[in-house]
Amino acid sequence: MTESEKRNLDRLPSRRAFVTTSAAAAATIGLLSACNSKADETKSAEIPPAPQEPPIVALTKEARDQMTPDSIIAKLKEGNTRFREGRKIPRDFLAEQRATASGQFPAAVLLSCVDSRAPAEILFNLGMGDVFNARVAGNIENPDILGSLEFTTKLAGAKVVLVMGHSACGAVAGAIANAKLGNLTQLLAKIQPAIKATKYDGNRTADNAEFVDAVARTNINLTIASIRKNSKVIADLEKAGTIKIAGAYYDLKTGAVEFSA
Ligand SMILES: [Zn+2]
Repeated sequence: MTESEKRNLDRLPSRRAFVTTSAAAAATIGLLSACNSKADETKSAEIPPAPQEPPIVALTKEARDQMTPDSIIAKLKEGNTRFREGRKIPRDFLAEQRATASGQFPAAVLLSCVDSRAPAEILFNLGMGDVFNARVAGNIENPDILGSLEFTTKLAGAKVVLVMGHSACGAVAGAIANAKLGNLTQLLAKIQPAIKATKYDGNRTADNAEFVDAVARTNINLTIASIRKNSKVIADLEKAGTIKIAGAYYDLKTGAVEFSA
């Protein structure tokens, strides 16, 4: 072991410290908050603190192993509730950076849009090392995205694939308007099937926000169907119950993320 590796290990909680706090890590902290957070004060108080040990500030392999796909989705929902209610857990990003420098054990992988107003890590009150996040306009899938999902689940152990779309999506509106621009043209073409598949009797144009949002919802479901169809690796993991694939729709106006699973 190099001196640098030894130093990184020194920054992580010891095995003993982890054992004393692992129940709290899995049940109340794990994915989404710092060990010494005020928001978890009540529950943390039930667990004796390990003296002179640094707090667990990032997801460990052991903590992730204790989580199920359903419990991870529940944690994401809790994180979004904290975000909406303005009681976000303060994070120490420098401590998280140090704790994750020598390894990562993210619990989920997100496929979300590039939209600057839909940053999943903030909307779910997450920290470094909690989730992988593949971002592409319109949260569509393609071979490179599928490769990323396969890496993050099969090889890196993420247990949830969450496809997250959002309201007022410019990519969806662009597809409805049949916009053409360089490489964007072929990306928007992947959203066309969602337009056709959306049942809507009103004004089916990009000017109609309600229709744009309806297509965005359809697009989430079609992306999930495409992932299952085009990635045998992901489909097999889902069939085995190793992972869960879920959809989510983020409303820019309310800050709420609505889950489809
Ligand atoms: Zn978007």
